[in-house]
Amino acid sequence: SDEESSAAADPVLSLSDVTKAFGPETAVDDVSLDVHSGELLTFLGPSGCGKTTTLRTIAGLEEPTEGEITLGDEVVAGDGSFVPPERRDVGIVFQNFALFPHLTVRENIAFGLTDADADESEARVDELLELVEMVDHGEKTPDQLSGGQKQRVALARSLAPEPEVLLLDEPFSNLDVRLRVEMREEVRRILKKAGVTAVSVTHDQEEALSISDRVAVMNDGQIEQVGRPESVFERPESKFVASFLGRASFLEGELRDGKVKTGIGRFDAVTLEGYDTVYDGAPVDVLVRPDDLRATPAASELADGVVTSRQYVGPSFVYRVELDSGEAVHCLHNHVEEFDLDEPVTLELTADHPLAWYPR
Ligand code: ATP
Repeated sequence: SDEESSAAADPVLSLSDVTKAFGPETAVDDVSLDVHSGELLTFLGPSGCGKTTTLRTIAGLEEPTEGEITLGDEVVAGDGSFVPPERRDVGIVFQNFALFPHLTVRENIAFGLTDADADESEARVDELLELVEMVDHGEKTPDQLSGGQKQRVALARSLAPEPEVLLLDEPFSNLDVRLRVEMREEVRRILKKAGVTAVSVTHDQEEALSISDRVAVMNDGQIEQVGRPESVFERPESKFVASFLGRASFLEGELRDGKVKTGIGRFDAVTLEGYDTVYDGAPVDVLVRPDDLRATPAASELADGVVTSRQYVGPSFVYRVELDSGEAVHCLHNHVEEFDLDEPVTLELTADHPLAWYPR
């Protein structure tokens, strides 16, 4: 589909029906995926969904129980073969950065350049210091660096030998919240400038959406959906994906002539992949995001529901409105209107896009 990146060139990394079981537990369940040259793909999912295990099978730190992994044109796992991690052309950036404490920044970066002569190695280190904007810090040791600087060095060290694929395991989890947001932009810039093919793992949806070319949303060992950040966010193909990528409320509705009928009105609907055979009249759950709705104070006999909670989220408030039917939705408001708890309100749909729905 058009969601996938172009298949014109052969993929750099390919997973084909990869399964990994630990005893009775299936951590990765029949995962297939192609990653293309220069692409940054992120596995996103809740704790225990199998994303780290998937990354570890790519690195060669786990052997798949079934399926095949291809790196470049080499089968590195499956079909009776298994290439150990040190002979795979992959770089890994670990959560804790794993810098050598007794080596300088330059020596850390040069560490993987075992095939290069001294001059080549020096030149490559200079190039990488420049890339990660650490030119003035080459002679420092890791204990003299901030968290963000350590991450830059870890990236430079993994990129130095020019791996075919760079793997990043929860790359921002050791940084404080403010730095995390800053380093997202920076890491994406560095990876794009290096032109490397990269696969990362996170449970943070905002991080995945902001750094990736494509996001693979995982649930229970399987990929639920893979696509560009905008398409997984705006056209989630399951309730799981819709709920995992930001706040989602669902209104009970009915499919009628390409529209959805709900307790608060009839709206244009979008038919997502896989749901095109759902019959007219079918009961569905309609996805509404907090910024799709607007509440207005109303006399109680005209109201759609009442405000049952109010949460301040920086520049706006999120209100939870409980409808007469017992359903609840969240809606986002700027400071202009503030509602009290138990205040009766009407709801209006302000979304300028058709709504997604899922068979109930
Ligand atoms: P988290 O974000 O918490 O790291 P995850 O999505 O990365 O979670 P995995 O670490 O891949 O999930 O684990 C997937 C499942 O496989 C979990 O239920 C986990 O308990 C199990 N698992 C992972 N590694 C092993 C192992 N070495 N032995 C047994 N079970 C394992």
